[in-house]
Amino acid sequence: MTKVVHESDVLIVGGGLAGLPLALALAQGGLSVTAVDAQDPARVTDAGFDGRVSAIAFASCRMFERIGVTKYLDGQMQPINDIIVSDGRVREGASPLFLHFDHTEIGDEPLGHLIENRHTRIALQKAVDAEPLVRLIAPNAVRHVEYGSARVTATLSDGSLVHAKLCFAADGRPSPTREAAGIRTIGWDYGQTGIVTTVEHELPHEGVAQEYFLPGGPFAILPMVGNRASLVWTEKNDMAKAILALDDKAFADEIRARFGDYLGQCRPVGPRWSYPLNLQLAREYVRPRLALVGDAAHGVHPIAGQGLNLGLRDVAAAAEVVVDAARLGLDIGALDVLERYQRWRRFDNTALSLMMDGLNRLFSNDIGPLRLARDLGLGLVNEIGPLRRLFMRHAGGVIGDLPRLLRGEAV
Ligand SMILES: Cc1cc2nc3c(=O)[nH]c(=O)nc-3n(C[C@H](O)[C@H](O)[C@H](O)COP(=O)(O)OP(=O)(O)OC[C@H]3O[C@@H](n4cnc5c(N)ncnc54)[C@H](O)[C@@H]3O)c2cc1C
Repeated sequence: MTKVVHESDVLIVGGGLAGLPLALALAQGGLSVTAVDAQDPARVTDAGFDGRVSAIAFASCRMFERIGVTKYLDGQMQPINDIIVSDGRVREGASPLFLHFDHTEIGDEPLGHLIENRHTRIALQKAVDAEPLVRLIAPNAVRHVEYGSARVTATLSDGSLVHAKLCFAADGRPSPTREAAGIRTIGWDYGQTGIVTTVEHELPHEGVAQEYFLPGGPFAILPMVGNRASLVWTEKNDMAKAILALDDKAFADEIRARFGDYLGQCRPVGPRWSYPLNLQLAREYVRPRLALVGDAAHGVHPIAGQGLNLGLRDVAAAAEVVVDAARLGLDIGALDVLERYQRWRRFDNTALSLMMDGLNRLFSNDIGPLRLARDLGLGLVNEIGPLRRLFMRHAGGVIGDLPRLLRGEAV
């Protein structure tokens, strides 16, 4: 029997939240793409698959608009107008010293939007369906990739083959493609678990996100469309296990002890999800005909809601480098082309990952002098306008050498 062979310029292993935007960005630059994902597209958009809500920074939202995703997110994007950062203890409330980011200080646009991952996945799939240069093969896993001098050949679990000039690994933290290529990672375990659930509350949240630092870890309250909020509640592993095992009433009581009553009565709705937290950074991002993007390159602490935003920056930079090379008639899989991408992204990702690591260490404890120092630090930054605005621009993702897509321009 003859094997099915798919030919395209680029192969993307992984059609997740980083892989599909990359496919759309490359297609916009005129390249044909085959994206392969092991999961069934109907399953990943199901309400029970991924309960997370992601903070998509202002610059990432610009890219979503450019690559044709935003039009499928109508009514699903909750603007982030303000962010309040405070420190406290369970049942004791927040310290009087806090940090307040108000988007009107840096312009008319919100700092970003909160979007349920499920809705982002649905929108990405619709955008891909409408893009003739992208072929999504799913469910089907990439079993093996062979790197030749002029092309890569991937073998899929159904026996079909994909030929391409370049392979992107967008296959998440475990990244079998990275592992098979022998690219090593560095990192460590946080001994923390991220509990994710949704609450309904009485009063409108006005688009205000809260990052509340408790001794076990950050407790983030992320406004969702309607009178709802997504909680990203970090606890030490043992405590998280006990919390996840509570009955509904006790679980709701624990939430109320942290959430407080600033939005009136609140109650958890829907399931509880949990994510073990670790830091994982790839030592290299590229090899001849291979480049890593998204969590395959860097898995970070969710403390600042930046993991996917870093991945979307990779996407914008990688697409620009590869599309520029194709326009010049260069080999898009050549190492010197891909090294431009690595130089652009690796330092930025490492610096931000370590910053988030430092924040987590500084805040996830109950050590008296440290508490005092960080509370004074929050209060101080709050008083210094230029510093406060710099942090806001960071949160919006508009600092640094931005690729064209993140500036809202075509690739
Ligand atoms: C609790 C929590 C909250 C978070 N909140 C935020 C936030 O607010 N903002 C933010 O920016 N980030 C956030 N993040 C981070 C964000 O969720 C991740 O960075 C993002 O999901 C990574 O996307 P990815 O596409 O790189 O990887 P993944 O989502 O892991 O996707 C990888 C894909 O590859 C596929 N795959 C794997 N192996 C194969 C194979 N062999 N063949 C074919 N397909 C394969 C998988 O099926 C999967 O679909 C959060 C993370 C956590 C844990």
